[in-house]
Amino acid sequence: SAFDYAPAPESRSVVDIAPSYGLFIDGEFTEAAEGKVFKTVSPSTEEVLSEVAQAGAEDVDRAVKAARRAFEKWSALPGSERAKYLFRIARIIQERSRELAVLETLDNGKPIKETRDADLPLVAAHFFYYAGWADKLDHAGYGANPRPLGVAGQIIPWNFPLLMLAWKIAPALATGNTVVLKPAETTPLSALFFADICRQAGLPKGVVNILTGYGDAGSALVEHPDVNKVAFTGSTAVGKAIARQIAGTDKKATLELGGKGANIVFDDAPVDQAVEGIVTGIFFNQGQVCCAGSRLLVQESVHDEVLHALKRRLSTLRLGDPLDKNTDIGAINSAEQLARISALVETGEAEGAERWSAPCELPSSGYWFAPTLFTGVTQAHTVARDEIFGPVLSVLTFRTPDEAVAKANNSQYGLSAGIWTEKGSRILAVANKLRAGVIWANTFNKFDPTSPFGGYKESGFGREGGRHGLEAYLDV
Ligand code: NAD
Repeated sequence: SAFDYAPAPESRSVVDIAPSYGLFIDGEFTEAAEGKVFKTVSPSTEEVLSEVAQAGAEDVDRAVKAARRAFEKWSALPGSERAKYLFRIARIIQERSRELAVLETLDNGKPIKETRDADLPLVAAHFFYYAGWADKLDHAGYGANPRPLGVAGQIIPWNFPLLMLAWKIAPALATGNTVVLKPAETTPLSALFFADICRQAGLPKGVVNILTGYGDAGSALVEHPDVNKVAFTGSTAVGKAIARQIAGTDKKATLELGGKGANIVFDDAPVDQAVEGIVTGIFFNQGQVCCAGSRLLVQESVHDEVLHALKRRLSTLRLGDPLDKNTDIGAINSAEQLARISALVETGEAEGAERWSAPCELPSSGYWFAPTLFTGVTQAHTVARDEIFGPVLSVLTFRTPDEAVAKANNSQYGLSAGIWTEKGSRILAVANKLRAGVIWANTFNKFDPTSPFGGYKESGFGREGGRHGLEAYLDV
């Protein structure tokens, strides 16, 4: 299908990175009002990739004003016209997908295999999907002419920079909103390339504005009185701060926060297949995935067999240069994130959980962490409760399906879960009792733009993706 188009990238010469970039406001790249800049580095080499403008409150105000001006015309366009722009953007993303995949791998550290085969095809698919909705909103049961909310302030994390951008921008534009988006400070580049794609697509000025910068710029965006909707993906701590900040205002919000997903393996599951699912669940993107299957709940009778097969499989994973097509495990996104992972792993060891790390040589520069397991873990261990957001799996056991459900639900989070069993009836019975926004059966980390995604409990509220993702940008 059109979505599968993704030629193989091979080297960084595919992408031309300028030494410096400005903020993208009202269709132009511009310096920050205070003239501040910051560097973005490649996590696999620590090489400086570029210097980008650092937005402050004045820039936020300029961008929101541009988005407000653009909103009048953009929201008045027929849906079929907005669809044309979104289809055009989707096609340019496909055409430039080699360049974008290499760029994302350089700035984020994740393997090219993932940016090429997962991130980029999904980014294009989201724009195609929401482009398809733009001219059908009048007939979708929302009453004639459902209203966009206005200016959306969107704040995204570094783990899937371009994909999180697509989840935010595509539904907002399809429904007639305009946006000011702030990418994470460690991965600003793909959002700036996306700004260039907006220009290439002839998108009217001010409909999309990109502000690179830190948390203070994000906070100023949330605070701005002319922002009608806040869409945030990131940590639960910042999500709570944002919820407090907008309490008492008329702003709408969706918050996609942290997780501690349970991947439940029953004794009748085919072991090899389950092991592949466990590996995908926690080692995809070095475990820096909000819906990662970071807790393995394995039925006691197959614990030893599964662990043996899992360790054997982890010993074959190739860690190293993310631009190498054969690499399975890339770099950790930043020195700060590496320090956070290391500290939690030390806590796990200090609390008496048994650590095992895959035997692999770590490169001498860059930020790296070997795939790691903790066995003998109980709910009392920090590594069973706290989100590590790294390539670290905590293994717990259970005897009965009820015990599996109780342990899976024993978490402040409720974003994802996986179930591995041959019994269809058990999948349904267990899934119905799990408190998680997404539940996979005999697979893990599968995404599709038609499916809503979001959390229960402290994993946040609201849904992105699918029809629910549209409703988050409409006054129905
Ligand atoms: P983070 O919360 O530190 O940062 C996320 C974004 O918020 C960044 O752009 C950052 O600059 C900005 N920010 C920081 N402080 C802010 C403030 N006070 N006000 C407004 N914006 C602010 O998170 P992170 O470390 O970048 O990402 C990791 C976290 O994100 C993990 O907890 C992970 O689970 C979560 N995450 C969730 C999802 C999901 O869909 N639920 C997806 C990806 C990541």
